[in-house]
Amino acid sequence: MPIVVSKYLIGRKFVGLALWPFIIVKSHRLKEDTTFVNHEEIHLTQQRELLVLPFYIWYGIEYLIRLIQYRDANRAYRNISFEREAYCNEDDLFYLKYRKMWSFLRYL
Ligand SMILES: [Zn+2]
Repeated sequence: MPIVVSKYLIGRKFVGLALWPFIIVKSHRLKEDTTFVNHEEIHLTQQRELLVLPFYIWYGIEYLIRLIQYRDANRAYRNISFEREAYCNEDDLFYLKYRKMWSFLRYL
């Protein structure tokens, strides 16, 4: 997937994000970070299998639900099913080779 380096496309809170079909990062150093890139590739796969737009809607709704549940923005973000799956498997560089479709559902 194409990786775009830009300080301006992403907010101060993030160092990078997956915006299908691109991975946008703040610095060139992150392009070499295989764990970081794998995390974002997992999000691109999730976005593709949800036909992109529904991913963002689901992500936003689940974030709000987790925010009510945890009353903490960072814990809410870390517990979104898409993030749970990405954080649990970002170190496994072969994860996307054997991952089954809709696997994020196991992290709900
Ligand atoms: Zn993530």
